[in-house]
Amino acid sequence: MTGSNRKPLVMGNWKMNGSSATNAALLRTLLPLVAPLDTVEIAICPPFPYLTTVADWLDDVAISLGAQNLSAESSGAHTGEVSGSMLHDLCCRFVLVGHSERRALHAEDDEQVAKKFAAGLQAGLVPVLCVGETLEQRQRGETQAIVTAQLQAVVKLVGIQNLATGVIAYEPVWAIGTGETATPDQAQAVHRHIRQWLASQDPAAAAGCRILYGGSVKADNAEALFTQPDIDGGLIGGASLDATSFATICRAAQREPVCP
Ligand code: PEP
Repeated sequence: MTGSNRKPLVMGNWKMNGSSATNAALLRTLLPLVAPLDTVEIAICPPFPYLTTVADWLDDVAISLGAQNLSAESSGAHTGEVSGSMLHDLCCRFVLVGHSERRALHAEDDEQVAKKFAAGLQAGLVPVLCVGETLEQRQRGETQAIVTAQLQAVVKLVGIQNLATGVIAYEPVWAIGTGETATPDQAQAVHRHIRQWLASQDPAAAAGCRILYGGSVKADNAEALFTQPDIDGGLIGGASLDATSFATICRAAQREPVCP
């Protein structure tokens, strides 16, 4: 992030974890730890049923609320689905789209992910587009092609400038929840590719777009990842469920603002 004026962003993805009691305990410890951090943007993505309660906790603090998924549809006969406007109504700022668990376990393809990205924008949310390759794809040397195709699907539907108003999260599938983190060099290489690809479409969009790394980020590896020039923070799964670890990760993303 050195030399860039992109504000770092750290997002906690709680996935399908927690209860009213454990969420309260987590937030009670976390909020005082992260309150002094003003050069990093922080967001929490709890499961849908807890959005309102967590929103109340975040009322007086500079932490944003995010959702983990949304419907590509805006309303109607879609039992069990949640629309972008509902999330906006519940004070969400961010919404994840295309998380690898949605792609793998719920058969979301690039086209559907792009529609969800568009639905998020339409509802006034900031979509966070998750991209990344499987281990087999990496071993076949396909990482850049896979990531580019995932970006292209969204650009085809909403255009490069709209993509860049969102956030991109590079999350190698082989590193998510496995304890196996991409090395800072491996992560930076893909982030550089993403930024160069964005720049080939629109240099200004590329310069302003935040690209997060996700995949087994922990308190002890966050700083080495976040100091890479094209890594603008992280999307944190397991470690976001531990207040002290998540606060340490947020602290690792702090940067002095760059004077123009
Ligand atoms: C994630 O769910 O987006 C994630 C990166 O999980 P973890 O940090 O547990 O690998």
